[in-house]
Amino acid sequence: MFLWLIAVSALAQELDPSAQTDLGEPFFSKPFDGAYGTSGFFDHDPEGTGEKHQRTAWGSVTFGKSGHVGWDWVLPVGTDVFAVADGVVEFGGDRGDVGCGKNRRVPSSVEVYVRHVGPDGQIYRVGYLHLDRARVTEGDVVRAGEVLAQSGNTGCSSGPHLHFVVELLANQLALSGEKVDPFGWSGDFADPWAVSTGFRSSWLWLAGEAPPVIRHQRHQASGEGPQVIGVTNVAWQDDRRPNAESVTLALSLESAVNRWPLDGVMIRNNGGDTYSFPEGMTLRRGRPIRLYSGVGRDAGQVVFWGNDHGMWDDTADCVWVLDADENVLSSRRWGRGRDKPCPLEVQDW
Ligand SMILES: [Zn+2]
Repeated sequence: MFLWLIAVSALAQELDPSAQTDLGEPFFSKPFDGAYGTSGFFDHDPEGTGEKHQRTAWGSVTFGKSGHVGWDWVLPVGTDVFAVADGVVEFGGDRGDVGCGKNRRVPSSVEVYVRHVGPDGQIYRVGYLHLDRARVTEGDVVRAGEVLAQSGNTGCSSGPHLHFVVELLANQLALSGEKVDPFGWSGDFADPWAVSTGFRSSWLWLAGEAPPVIRHQRHQASGEGPQVIGVTNVAWQDDRRPNAESVTLALSLESAVNRWPLDGVMIRNNGGDTYSFPEGMTLRRGRPIRLYSGVGRDAGQVVFWGNDHGMWDDTADCVWVLDADENVLSSRRWGRGRDKPCPLEVQDW
């Protein structure tokens, strides 16, 4: 609780709208009641820069899926989701299987998109994804605060949450636009997203209406899925010979399935470095996969991170196995405090 309070108060300062470089003309009211953890931030670093983190609206770096240009809040299934402004519904309903990359199919993807005209005459489209039920449909005229849907866990999602995305459209006829961050930009350097796309994010929340930003408390490993069964790290000169280090993953015996697709699954160290498995790779029961820190050719059950130096601290570190939404599938610590779990909270502020 103590740490939580620190995190919340620190953020309250960082999200002071007056710190914005472009205040804009706010007109959004809150998309839901109450306070829920934030599991994904709008990533202000454009894709293709090679980084593997999210650059927050206030300029800091946080661990998360790179290229995520929306916000995720961990709303329990069934939570009312509101229109943030008066507008017209462009789509409300189930888009079916939207496709979640190789090998992954989903039965339904319930989404709502609403168009709004801002006080500055700009046209915005706000999307609400992973819903359980949509309560509006195309053409409906909605008022700010009106219930649009109940949140859920549909589409490409591995846990209940709301994905909230804002686009700025060039005109009423535009079918798509540029993603912008409704939390604007308050970093002390130029917003990389604006530099890259030409679209400046401005603070869009009316006074007191911005959802609180609280780092999501990751859930404990369920005992399902990939588990770390071995770590080879205390090697001589592993910093010069990174392949002296490895981490071995196996499918948990408790898993109800015999195969676990590794698309989107990440391995992370205490320093925040992450490794993502090659597309299409699957962990099979009884066939462990070993990840070496150095360079080599992926083959069968052996994969290489591709570094020219060690990735694991010999004295104390944590291996985290995370899914695409940063949920901890499993973790393992060694060195100091090795009997304790790895911390579930990432504190980058
Ligand atoms: Zn998201």
